[in-house]
Amino acid sequence: MLQGKTALITGSTSGIGFAVAQRLASTGANIVLNGLGDAGEIEIARSKMESQYGVRVIYNPADMTKPAEIKAMVEGAVGQFGKVDVLVNNAGIQHVAAIDDFPVARWDAIIAINMSSVFHTTRAALPAMKSAGWGRIINIASSHGLVASPYKSAYVTAKHGVVGLTKTTALEVAQQGITCNAICPGYVLTPLVEKQIPDMAKAHGVSEDEVVHDVLLAPQPTRKFVGLDELGALVLYLCSEGAVSLTGAALPIDGGWTAH
Ligand code: NAD
Repeated sequence: MLQGKTALITGSTSGIGFAVAQRLASTGANIVLNGLGDAGEIEIARSKMESQYGVRVIYNPADMTKPAEIKAMVEGAVGQFGKVDVLVNNAGIQHVAAIDDFPVARWDAIIAINMSSVFHTTRAALPAMKSAGWGRIINIASSHGLVASPYKSAYVTAKHGVVGLTKTTALEVAQQGITCNAICPGYVLTPLVEKQIPDMAKAHGVSEDEVVHDVLLAPQPTRKFVGLDELGALVLYLCSEGAVSLTGAALPIDGGWTAH
Protein backbone atom coordinates (compact mmCIF):
# COMPACT_ATOMS: atom_id res chain seq x y z
CA MET A 1 0.00 0.00 0.00
CA LEU A 2 2.81 2.47 0.80
CA GLN A 3 5.39 1.29 -1.75
CA GLY A 4 7.66 4.16 -2.79
CA LYS A 5 6.48 6.32 0.09
CA THR A 6 8.55 7.43 3.07
CA ALA A 7 7.39 7.52 6.68
CA LEU A 8 9.21 9.36 9.46
CA ILE A 9 8.20 8.29 12.95
CA THR A 10 9.57 10.25 15.90
CA GLY A 11 10.31 8.21 19.04
CA SER A 12 10.32 4.95 17.10
CA THR A 13 13.07 3.10 18.98
CA SER A 14 10.51 1.77 21.46
CA GLY A 15 6.85 1.05 22.18
CA ILE A 16 4.13 2.53 19.96
CA GLY A 17 6.52 4.26 17.56
CA PHE A 18 8.47 1.07 16.87
CA ALA A 19 5.25 -0.91 16.33
CA VAL A 20 3.93 1.75 13.93
CA ALA A 21 7.24 1.82 12.03
CA GLN A 22 7.12 -1.96 11.59
CA ARG A 23 3.52 -1.84 10.39
CA LEU A 24 4.27 0.88 7.82
CA ALA A 25 7.42 -0.94 6.65
CA SER A 26 5.38 -4.13 6.24
CA THR A 27 3.28 -2.37 3.58
CA GLY A 28 6.32 -1.13 1.65
CA ALA A 29 7.16 2.29 3.12
CA ASN A 30 10.77 3.40 3.54
CA ILE A 31 11.26 4.36 7.16
CA VAL A 32 13.09 7.04 9.13
CA LEU A 33 13.52 5.82 12.68
CA ASN A 34 14.21 8.30 15.50
CA GLY A 35 14.55 8.09 19.24
CA LEU A 36 16.89 7.46 22.12
CA GLY A 37 18.52 4.18 23.07
CA ASP A 38 21.55 1.95 22.77
CA ALA A 39 23.21 2.54 19.38
CA GLY A 40 24.01 -1.16 18.88
CA GLU A 41 20.45 -2.29 19.64
CA ILE A 42 18.98 0.38 17.36
CA GLU A 43 21.26 -0.71 14.51
CA ILE A 44 20.17 -4.34 14.95
CA ALA A 45 16.49 -3.31 14.83
CA ARG A 46 17.10 -1.04 11.82
CA SER A 47 18.85 -3.65 9.71
CA LYS A 48 16.34 -6.36 10.72
CA MET A 49 13.45 -4.14 9.57
CA GLU A 50 15.23 -3.54 6.24
CA SER A 51 15.81 -7.21 5.54
CA GLN A 52 12.42 -8.37 6.87
CA TYR A 53 10.36 -5.98 4.73
CA GLY A 54 12.70 -5.19 1.80
CA VAL A 55 12.51 -1.42 2.37
CA ARG A 56 15.11 1.23 3.18
CA VAL A 57 15.33 2.12 6.86
CA ILE A 58 17.51 4.94 8.17
CA TYR A 59 17.97 6.14 11.74
CA ASN A 60 18.36 9.74 12.88
CA PRO A 61 19.07 10.43 16.59
CA ALA A 62 17.60 13.99 16.60
CA ASP A 63 16.71 15.11 20.11
CA MET A 64 13.09 16.30 20.18
CA THR A 65 14.05 19.08 22.60
CA LYS A 66 16.32 20.62 19.93
CA PRO A 67 14.55 22.44 17.06
CA ALA A 68 17.72 22.63 14.92
CA GLU A 69 18.23 18.85 15.14
CA ILE A 70 14.56 18.24 14.28
CA LYS A 71 14.78 20.50 11.22
CA ALA A 72 18.00 18.81 10.07
CA MET A 73 16.40 15.35 10.48
CA VAL A 74 13.34 16.20 8.37
CA GLU A 75 15.37 18.04 5.72
CA GLY A 76 17.85 15.14 5.63
CA ALA A 77 15.00 12.68 5.04
CA VAL A 78 13.56 14.89 2.28
CA GLY A 79 17.05 15.11 0.74
CA GLN A 80 17.48 11.34 0.83
CA PHE A 81 13.99 10.17 -0.18
CA GLY A 82 12.59 13.23 -2.04
CA LYS A 83 9.90 13.85 0.56
CA VAL A 84 8.38 12.64 3.80
CA ASP A 85 4.93 11.34 2.81
CA VAL A 86 3.84 10.14 6.24
CA LEU A 87 4.87 11.97 9.40
CA VAL A 88 4.01 10.26 12.67
CA ASN A 89 4.68 12.50 15.67
CA ASN A 90 5.00 10.00 18.47
CA ALA A 91 7.97 10.86 20.73
CA GLY A 92 6.85 11.40 24.27
CA ILE A 93 7.80 11.24 27.92
CA GLN A 94 5.85 11.39 31.17
CA HIS A 95 6.38 12.66 34.70
CA VAL A 96 3.91 12.08 37.51
CA ALA A 97 3.81 14.57 40.41
CA ALA A 98 1.50 17.07 42.05
CA ILE A 99 1.70 20.56 40.49
CA ASP A 100 3.31 22.13 43.55
CA ASP A 101 6.01 19.43 43.51
CA PHE A 102 6.40 19.29 39.72
CA PRO A 103 10.06 19.88 38.71
CA VAL A 104 10.31 22.84 36.32
CA ALA A 105 12.86 21.02 34.14
CA ARG A 106 10.43 18.09 33.67
CA TRP A 107 7.64 20.52 32.70
CA ASP A 108 9.92 22.14 30.09
CA ALA A 109 11.06 18.76 28.70
CA ILE A 110 7.50 17.41 28.39
CA ILE A 111 6.24 20.54 26.65
CA ALA A 112 9.23 20.42 24.25
CA ILE A 113 9.18 16.69 23.44
CA ASN A 114 5.43 15.96 23.56
CA MET A 115 4.14 19.20 22.04
CA SER A 116 6.63 21.65 20.48
CA SER A 117 8.43 18.93 18.50
CA VAL A 118 5.15 18.34 16.63
CA PHE A 119 5.24 21.95 15.44
CA HIS A 120 8.91 21.68 14.41
CA THR A 121 8.54 18.44 12.40
CA THR A 122 5.30 19.58 10.76
CA ARG A 123 6.80 22.94 9.82
CA ALA A 124 9.80 21.23 8.20
CA ALA A 125 7.83 18.46 6.44
CA LEU A 126 4.98 20.51 4.94
CA PRO A 127 6.77 22.23 2.02
CA ALA A 128 7.65 18.89 0.30
CA MET A 129 4.19 17.45 1.09
CA LYS A 130 2.59 20.53 -0.48
CA SER A 131 4.77 20.19 -3.60
CA ALA A 132 3.80 16.51 -3.87
CA GLY A 133 0.10 17.23 -3.25
CA TRP A 134 -0.10 14.31 -0.82
CA GLY A 135 0.71 13.82 2.83
CA ARG A 136 -0.43 12.23 6.05
CA ILE A 137 0.41 13.79 9.43
CA ILE A 138 -0.56 11.58 12.34
CA ASN A 139 -0.03 12.90 15.85
CA ILE A 140 0.00 10.39 18.67
CA ALA A 141 -1.79 12.38 21.37
CA SER A 142 -3.54 10.51 24.19
CA SER A 143 -6.81 10.20 26.08
CA HIS A 144 -5.07 12.93 28.05
CA GLY A 145 -5.47 15.15 24.99
CA LEU A 146 -9.22 14.99 25.61
CA VAL A 147 -9.60 14.60 29.37
CA ALA A 148 -7.35 15.15 32.40
CA SER A 149 -6.01 13.05 35.27
CA PRO A 150 -4.40 14.36 38.44
CA TYR A 151 -0.59 14.52 38.79
CA LYS A 152 0.01 14.73 35.01
CA SER A 153 -0.19 18.50 34.50
CA ALA A 154 2.56 18.84 31.87
CA TYR A 155 1.48 15.75 29.91
CA VAL A 156 -2.21 16.73 29.87
CA THR A 157 -1.28 20.28 28.82
CA ALA A 158 1.02 19.08 26.04
CA LYS A 159 -1.45 16.51 24.68
CA HIS A 160 -4.34 19.02 24.65
CA GLY A 161 -1.95 21.32 22.73
CA VAL A 162 -1.22 18.57 20.20
CA VAL A 163 -4.96 18.14 19.57
CA GLY A 164 -5.25 21.90 18.94
CA LEU A 165 -2.26 21.95 16.59
CA THR A 166 -3.73 18.95 14.74
CA LYS A 167 -6.92 20.90 14.00
CA THR A 168 -5.04 24.02 12.87
CA THR A 169 -2.73 22.00 10.61
CA ALA A 170 -5.69 20.17 9.06
CA LEU A 171 -7.43 23.45 8.25
CA GLU A 172 -4.35 25.03 6.70
CA VAL A 173 -3.70 22.15 4.25
CA ALA A 174 -7.23 20.85 3.67
CA GLN A 175 -7.15 21.60 -0.08
CA GLN A 176 -3.65 20.29 -0.70
CA GLY A 177 -4.10 16.52 -0.45
CA ILE A 178 -2.74 16.46 3.10
CA THR A 179 -4.63 15.20 6.13
CA CYS A 180 -3.69 15.70 9.77
CA ASN A 181 -5.25 13.73 12.61
CA ALA A 182 -4.53 12.95 16.24
CA ILE A 183 -4.81 9.46 17.67
CA CYS A 184 -5.79 9.43 21.34
CA PRO A 185 -4.87 6.08 22.87
CA GLY A 186 -5.86 4.95 26.32
CA TYR A 187 -3.26 2.88 28.19
CA VAL A 188 -0.93 0.75 26.08
CA LEU A 189 1.58 -1.41 27.94
CA THR A 190 4.92 0.11 26.86
CA PRO A 191 8.07 1.22 28.73
CA LEU A 192 6.50 4.70 29.16
CA VAL A 193 3.63 3.22 31.20
CA GLU A 194 5.75 0.63 33.01
CA LYS A 195 8.11 3.39 34.21
CA GLN A 196 5.34 5.50 35.77
CA ILE A 197 3.80 2.68 37.84
CA PRO A 198 6.17 3.13 40.85
CA ASP A 199 5.62 6.94 40.89
CA MET A 200 1.87 6.51 40.62
CA ALA A 201 1.94 4.00 43.48
CA LYS A 202 3.72 6.64 45.56
CA ALA A 203 1.41 9.49 44.51
CA HIS A 204 -1.77 7.48 45.17
CA GLY A 205 -0.40 5.65 48.24
CA VAL A 206 -1.20 2.15 46.88
CA SER A 207 0.74 -0.94 45.69
CA GLU A 208 2.01 -1.29 42.10
CA ASP A 209 -0.53 -4.06 41.36
CA GLU A 210 -3.30 -1.81 42.62
CA VAL A 211 -2.04 0.96 40.33
CA VAL A 212 -2.48 -1.29 37.27
CA HIS A 213 -5.96 -2.54 38.16
CA ASP A 214 -7.46 0.28 40.22
CA VAL A 215 -5.80 3.39 38.74
CA LEU A 216 -4.45 2.77 35.21
CA LEU A 217 -7.21 0.51 33.90
CA ALA A 218 -9.98 1.96 36.07
CA PRO A 219 -11.07 4.59 33.49
CA GLN A 220 -10.84 2.08 30.63
CA PRO A 221 -14.21 0.24 30.58
CA THR A 222 -12.73 -2.76 28.71
CA ARG A 223 -10.24 -3.13 31.63
CA LYS A 224 -7.65 -4.13 29.04
CA PHE A 225 -4.59 -2.36 27.69
CA VAL A 226 -4.93 -1.17 24.06
CA GLY A 227 -2.80 -3.41 21.77
CA LEU A 228 0.17 -2.11 19.79
CA ASP A 229 -1.22 -3.87 16.70
CA GLU A 230 -4.45 -1.84 17.03
CA LEU A 231 -2.47 1.41 16.83
CA GLY A 232 -0.55 0.19 13.77
CA ALA A 233 -3.85 -0.68 12.08
CA LEU A 234 -5.35 2.76 12.79
CA VAL A 235 -2.25 4.57 11.48
CA LEU A 236 -2.36 2.46 8.32
CA TYR A 237 -6.05 3.27 7.83
CA LEU A 238 -5.31 6.99 8.14
CA CYS A 239 -2.68 6.58 5.40
CA SER A 240 -5.17 4.91 3.06
CA GLU A 241 -7.16 6.62 0.30
CA GLY A 242 -10.32 5.58 2.19
CA ALA A 243 -9.40 8.13 4.86
CA VAL A 244 -8.97 11.05 2.47
CA SER A 245 -11.79 13.11 4.05
CA LEU A 246 -10.85 12.21 7.61
CA THR A 247 -8.91 15.23 8.81
CA GLY A 248 -8.69 17.46 11.86
CA ALA A 249 -10.02 14.69 14.08
CA ALA A 250 -8.92 13.50 17.50
CA LEU A 251 -9.64 9.77 17.39
CA PRO A 252 -9.98 7.94 20.71
CA ILE A 253 -8.74 4.33 20.82
CA ASP A 254 -9.22 3.88 24.52
CA GLY A 255 -11.56 1.00 25.35
CA GLY A 256 -14.36 3.50 25.98
CA TRP A 257 -12.47 5.74 28.45
CA THR A 258 -13.59 9.06 26.95
CA ALA A 259 -17.18 7.82 26.45
CA HIS A 260 -17.71 8.38 30.18
P1 NAD B 1 8.04 4.66 24.98
O1 NAD B 1 8.72 5.19 26.19
O2 NAD B 1 8.03 3.19 24.75
O3 NAD B 1 8.59 5.38 23.67
C1 NAD B 1 8.86 6.75 23.63
C2 NAD B 1 9.77 7.04 22.47
O4 NAD B 1 10.09 8.45 22.49
C3 NAD B 1 11.10 6.30 22.56
O5 NAD B 1 11.52 5.88 21.28
C4 NAD B 1 12.06 7.37 23.09
O6 NAD B 1 13.42 7.14 22.76
C5 NAD B 1 11.50 8.59 22.40
N1 NAD B 1 11.98 9.82 23.01
C6 NAD B 1 11.90 10.22 24.31
N2 NAD B 1 12.53 11.39 24.47
C7 NAD B 1 13.02 11.75 23.26
C8 NAD B 1 13.76 12.86 22.79
N3 NAD B 1 14.16 13.86 23.59
N4 NAD B 1 14.08 12.89 21.47
C9 NAD B 1 13.72 11.89 20.64
N5 NAD B 1 13.00 10.82 21.03
C10 NAD B 1 12.67 10.76 22.33
O7 NAD B 1 6.54 5.22 25.07
P2 NAD B 1 5.19 4.88 24.29
O8 NAD B 1 4.21 4.44 25.29
O9 NAD B 1 5.46 4.05 23.09
O10 NAD B 1 4.75 6.35 23.87
C11 NAD B 1 4.75 6.82 22.53
C12 NAD B 1 3.76 7.97 22.43
O11 NAD B 1 2.44 7.49 22.70
C13 NAD B 1 4.02 9.10 23.42
O12 NAD B 1 3.80 10.35 22.80
C14 NAD B 1 2.98 8.86 24.48
O13 NAD B 1 2.62 10.04 25.15
C15 NAD B 1 1.82 8.32 23.65
N6 NAD B 1 0.85 7.55 24.41
C16 NAD B 1 1.22 6.42 25.09
C17 NAD B 1 0.26 5.73 25.79
C18 NAD B 1 0.59 4.49 26.55
O14 NAD B 1 -0.27 4.05 27.34
N7 NAD B 1 1.74 3.88 26.37
C19 NAD B 1 -1.06 6.19 25.82
C20 NAD B 1 -1.39 7.34 25.14
C21 NAD B 1 -0.42 8.01 24.42
